[in-house]
Amino acid sequence: DDMDVGTIWMDGEFVDWEDAQVHVLTHGLHYGTGVFEGVRSYDTDNGAAIFRWEEHLDRLYQSAKPYGMEIPFDREELTEATLELIEREELPSCYIRPIAFYGYDMLGLNPGDAPVKVAIAVWPWGAYLGEEALEEGVDVAVSSWRKYASSQIPTNAKTTGPYVNSVLASLEAEENGYTEALLLNKEGQVAEGPGENLFLVRDGEIYTPGLAESNLDGITRRTVIDLAEELGYTVHDEATISRGELYTADELFFSGTAAEVTPIRSVDDTEIGSGTKGPVTDEIQEAFFEVIESGDREEWFTYV
Ligand code: PMP
Repeated sequence: DDMDVGTIWMDGEFVDWEDAQVHVLTHGLHYGTGVFEGVRSYDTDNGAAIFRWEEHLDRLYQSAKPYGMEIPFDREELTEATLELIEREELPSCYIRPIAFYGYDMLGLNPGDAPVKVAIAVWPWGAYLGEEALEEGVDVAVSSWRKYASSQIPTNAKTTGPYVNSVLASLEAEENGYTEALLLNKEGQVAEGPGENLFLVRDGEIYTPGLAESNLDGITRRTVIDLAEELGYTVHDEATISRGELYTADELFFSGTAAEVTPIRSVDDTEIGSGTKGPVTDEIQEAFFEVIESGDREEWFTYV
């Protein structure tokens, strides 16, 4: 399959795909004490380049902090490992998955002296929600599962365990015939998708929920905000969006490393706007792919 690439970097070494194994008594397996990233490398006009790698690295190290986890490799080591993986696998465009997790020690909840294991894998990954979704938009359902609050689990960290929340929401959405879920927070306001931030367009202005209550500080979210402002839009990035506002929005779209900029054409079977990609979404999506394809904004790219 696609993920069966030749080499995975693990704990400082390049190992064959089938040798990248962990012990069943791994702390992170039992308690979800891992932190990870999802990054993309693109085949830009300036060659293969990782999009906003430095910010993904920042978030990886920051995610580790609440868990007292010291990642035993520095930024340069992780960067070099990733660049070499991309070169070895000859994948100008790929998805990159760095992960750090507590390995085996004692299985007490406190990871104590458990070693911190680190791995990086790369594999080809096209449009997460499908090529068609980028053009036509996706059908979304408000999940019966709520996004957990930042008072329960740090939501500015990308921690493996809490992703069961996203898994439940995704399973439910798919079971009910939708492409993707949309989660409300504990207060019942709009939070985010299982792996995407949400944007709403109303009367020519752009709204996205703030980060304090429950949302990940998405790097694509930051990119969208930057591009939208450059295009002259007013962006309200601390918005409180009620469920009802979803159905009456002019446009809705998701942002995320995997989902990129994906229009939402319906929520709970209610057509959003004209029921296809809206004009503002189109403009922002175009600006996004223009950046990705040209690779011109040097500050956003780490060239392979
Ligand atoms: N929210 C959640 C819960 C996510 O998993 C992701 C994907 N990392 C995002 C938002 C979007 O973040 P980014 O744009 O950094 O990929």
